[in-house]
Amino acid sequence: MSDLQKFDLGPLRVYVVPTLFDNYSYLLEFEGGLAVVDPPDAERILEVCEALRLKPTHILNTHAHEDHTAGNAALRQATGCRVLGPGGVPIPEVDETFTDGDVLPLGPAQCRVMATPGHTRADHSLLFEGAVFTGDTLFVSGCGRLFECDAPTMWKSLMRLRELPDDTLVFCGHEYAEENLDFALSLLPDDPALRARREEVRALRAEGQPAVPSKIGTEKAANLFLRADDPAIRAAIGHEVADAAAVFGDLRARRNLF
Ligand code: ZN
Ligand code: FE
Repeated sequence: MSDLQKFDLGPLRVYVVPTLFDNYSYLLEFEGGLAVVDPPDAERILEVCEALRLKPTHILNTHAHEDHTAGNAALRQATGCRVLGPGGVPIPEVDETFTDGDVLPLGPAQCRVMATPGHTRADHSLLFEGAVFTGDTLFVSGCGRLFECDAPTMWKSLMRLRELPDDTLVFCGHEYAEENLDFALSLLPDDPALRARREEVRALRAEGQPAVPSKIGTEKAANLFLRADDPAIRAAIGHEVADAAAVFGDLRARRNLF
């Protein structure tokens, strides 16, 4: 388990846990506890925690999909941890629901909850000092599918994330970075930011490393879905006059077919 990537962010130590086929769970170690973000596989988390001599005290779910929550019940049963997730949707074994603007105290760390609907109507991003966990809303060079909301709703959520400080680390729910960049370069083959980013991501992936974390500043340059208001993108897809949300919706529809 010593090969797990870890990042020290003030009162938090973040471990990246690849799980299932292309999902990421995260362990957030803080003084007095451990929060697990989006565990689909309890066994995997328990095995990692045992190796690190850590015990989960909390589960935080970004949204209700199974590939982010299927480990809740077994993990809660094994450890007695508290399950926190969005309200109004079926989060397995939830103890406490949260909503936009809530602040969740985790020892000396604080998690600020941001509603970021779009992928589902109850997706939330979890913001800490210096890092944001975006679930299936913002991916590295991509964004989640629109299962329950329209394009303007997701675009608004992505705009909220885009406003975070550039050096904010982005930890997302899936490893789709290479495919996302291949898609982006199929539309803008000469874009320097996209080309440079694909080289970086390919090098990481070739070594078996995750492409997370990214940074908000990096995403602003190398994520087409955050650039729907960029004239170069409009021109590339023949939408000079459409508004940004419509351009975003067209990009997302094209990504589904890629
Ligand atoms: Zn999902
Ligand atoms: Fe997912």
